[in-house]
Amino acid sequence: MNTANCNAVEPSLASEFESRALERLKAAGLRVTTPRRLVLRTLGATRKPMGAYEIRDAVKRSGGRIDVVSIYRILSALAAAGLVHHIGSVDGYLACTGRPGEESKTLHLICSKCGCVQELPPSQAAGIEIGVTASRQGFLSETTRIETVGVCEHCR
Ligand SMILES: [Zn+2]
Ligand SMILES: [Zn+2]
Repeated sequence: MNTANCNAVEPSLASEFESRALERLKAAGLRVTTPRRLVLRTLGATRKPMGAYEIRDAVKRSGGRIDVVSIYRILSALAAAGLVHHIGSVDGYLACTGRPGEESKTLHLICSKCGCVQELPPSQAAGIEIGVTASRQGFLSETTRIETVGVCEHCR
C-alpha cells in the first residue's frame, strides 16, 4: 500500500482532533486513560480506517504498548461516544471529523486506491429522502450511515 499524502492528517489538525476528542470523552462520562488516548492519537493521525491489529502495531512503532483485546474494548466505547466510526466497507475504524451534532447522519467517501476516507454530512435533501423512504415502510429512521467507494481527488 502506498503512502499517498491524502492518508496523513496534518499534525496541527491531528492534535486539534485529539484535544477535541478528549473533551468529548469527558463529556460522555468516560475517563481519559492512557490506552484511550493512544487509540485516539493513532486514529487522529490518519484518514485511513484501521483495524485493531494495525492500531496495535502503530502504537508499538511510536514506542507505546497496548493489547488487541483492550483496543477492541476502547474502539467500541469510542464508537458509542461518536468519536470514531466503524467503516463497514473496509472493516476499519476512522476518527470522526464531523461537527458535534452531526453524528447521526454521515457520508463517507472511501478511496479504493489509497484507502483514505473523507467524512461529510450528507446533503439535507438526501437525509430527507432516506427518512421519507423509510417512513413509507412505517420505519422511523434515527441514524444514517452512507458509504460510497470510489477514487479520491488525489488518486485521480
Ligand atoms: Zn463523524
Ligand atoms: Zn485516494
